Formats: sequence, structure tokens, C-alpha cells
Amino acid sequence: MHALIHYLNEQLPAMTALLTRIVAAESFSADKTGVDDVGRLIAHELRARGADVTIFPQTQTGDHVLGVFNRGAGSPIAMILHMDTVHPRGSFAARYKIEDGKMYGPGVFDMKASHVIALYAVQALQALGQMPNREIRMLFTSDEEIGSFTSADLIMAQAHDAALMMIMEPALSDGRLKSSRRGVGNFTVVAHGRASHAGGGHERGINAIQEMAHHVLAIQSLTDYQRGIATTVSMIAGGIAHNVVPDRCEIHVDARANTQADAEWITERIHSLQPVLPGARLEIAGKFERPPMECNAERLAIFERMKAIVAPIMTLAHGPSGAGSDAAFTAPIAPTMDGLGAVGDGLHATDEHVVLASLVERAAMNALIVKEW
Ligand SMILES: [Zn+2]
Repeated sequence: MHALIHYLNEQLPAMTALLTRIVAAESFSADKTGVDDVGRLIAHELRARGADVTIFPQTQTGDHVLGVFNRGAGSPIAMILHMDTVHPRGSFAARYKIEDGKMYGPGVFDMKASHVIALYAVQALQALGQMPNREIRMLFTSDEEIGSFTSADLIMAQAHDAALMMIMEPALSDGRLKSSRRGVGNFTVVAHGRASHAGGGHERGINAIQEMAHHVLAIQSLTDYQRGIATTVSMIAGGIAHNVVPDRCEIHVDARANTQADAEWITERIHSLQPVLPGARLEIAGKFERPPMECNAERLAIFERMKAIVAPIMTLAHGPSGAGSDAAFTAPIAPTMDGLGAVGDGLHATDEHVVLASLVERAAMNALIVKEW
């Protein structure tokens, strides 16, 4: 048996216990107190393993936590992790259980198991005297599930001099790495018309909802599953009273694309919408906050190298993910791979769980990559 697997197998009870503590510290994105509880726990675990820890205080979200091993050594590798979850406080008690070798709980798969995997990857290298002479950074952010608005700059700052960016999101089913990510765009369109009485002044009004109806249909029709494009008018608001021609209507648009070219195409189409009703006016804002990460030749080369590195312990595969992640920020800057976290299922769902044995395999996998890259 490989020495890393042997060591980590012995650590599995401790890994399971730590994972339980991190999952018990519930950390819904909007719950700063909860996310900061996880941050303190993580900072403690990082320091216990000899990391140099920096806290980046935030006012609206939880604080970000950066742990650095071997500061100043060359060829940095950065692991990107998030501490927030999509599960409001109060989910833990009802959902936490260990059954058939799986741990269930809010955020256990996305991505608290990844915290344990990263920490124990380094611990294993230290215990076996195999820590590479390179800087290893672990950035734990607080707002990935709501768009990484306060952490994106910090994430990109890690990429500028990095030899490798390891995005520690959960794996695809069967442990496949995530070699491509769909881009995520958010747009708002506001239609301005003219208010008037719905009876006596109907002909003087310009109905903003009527105006918007044209654009709702136009935006929805950009969807093309063959191309991997999905546009969703996801929210709409307009009007102030039942007898008033509305002078304002606003929609929110969620847009997804597999390629940068399609992301630009969607953006261009939405921004070039023109008013249909005489006298109406449109106000359009938004962009692809998370650009697509394409599975290009560079990504395939990164995958092949990882596959060769971990060949002594496992056979690695890769595939596409339909959702966005922080990989979108780093892929244009540094070699990036995603999906290095645990094996499990039920992402964002009530039956979210991880396969506990995968903690060992994935920690060993990450350790090997960090050591040999
Ligand atoms: Zn995640």
C-alpha cells in the first residue's frame, strides 16, 4: 500500500471527527457569525500544522482566511476553498448522520470535506517527511455561493505567481475532476414607460410591462441547449397599483455559456435590446461575472500531468460541470484544475453527503499533486 494511503487510513477517524465539527459549525453565506465560526476553526487547524495565517476581515460576509506553508519558497501552489454553504442555520441537527460509510450534512460535500482533505494532505506530507520545498497556500473564502463578490480579488491575487491553482470543489460523480465550467452571467433590464390612469388616460400611458414582455421572450429565446446556452428571466417586478399603467418594469436574467465566445455573444445580444413601444426606454446592465472555464488544450495537458502524478494510487478521469466556480477567475491567469474535493452526491440538496473513504483517497491525491507538480 502506498505510504500516503497507509498514513491517511490511520487518520480517517480524526478526519471524520474534524469534518463533523466543521459541518456542525453551520455557515450559510449570509450568516457572518456562522461563517466566522468556521473561519476560526480553520485558522486553528492551519496554525496547528505550522501555517502562517492571515485573516482578511469583511463587514458584509465572513472573514477570509489564508494559510501559507513554506512562505517564500518558490513555485507556489494555491488551493482555493470556500467556507460558506447554501444551507440556512438549523439544517444540521435534522440532516447530520453517518450511514453506510457516508456522512450526511449541510455543506459536507460542498465543500467542508475539502477543508479536511486539504489540511490532511499537508499533514500527511509533513508526517512522512515529504513536504516539497515550495510555498503552499490555502485560501478559505466566505462568499463563493453568492458570487465571490468580496473574495474574487484575493483569489486572483493567489493566481498571479502560482504554478498551479487547485480549486477544491467537490468532484463529479465517480471522482472525475472538473475540467470545464460553464460561465455565469447576471443581467438586469429596466423598461421605463409613462404612467397614466388605466381607464381615463390609457392612451397617454406607455406600459412598461408590455414593453418588457417583448424582451422577456427575446431573452428566453437565446437559449440553445446544443450550444450549451441557457438564459433565464428569473425575476420580474413592475407596476404600482391595479388601475395604473405601469411606468417601470424590471427583470433579472441569469445566463450560462460554455465558451467565452458564447458569453460575449449573449452579453452583446442583451445589451443591444432596443425599445419596441414608441416612447419607451431601456436601461440594461450586467455581464458574465464568472467567465466560462473551457476544456482547452492547456486544461487537457494539466489533467494528463495530474493523471500521471497520481497513477500510483488511482486512475483519474475528468468531465464538464454545468455550474460556475472560482476556477473561472484563475483559469485565465494560471494553470487551473477544479473538482479536487471529495466524492459524494446531493450537492446543495437535503441529502448532501460524502463517501468517507474518499477523504483518504482525495487527500492522498492532493498530497501527491502538491508534492510532484
Ligand atoms: Zn462549492
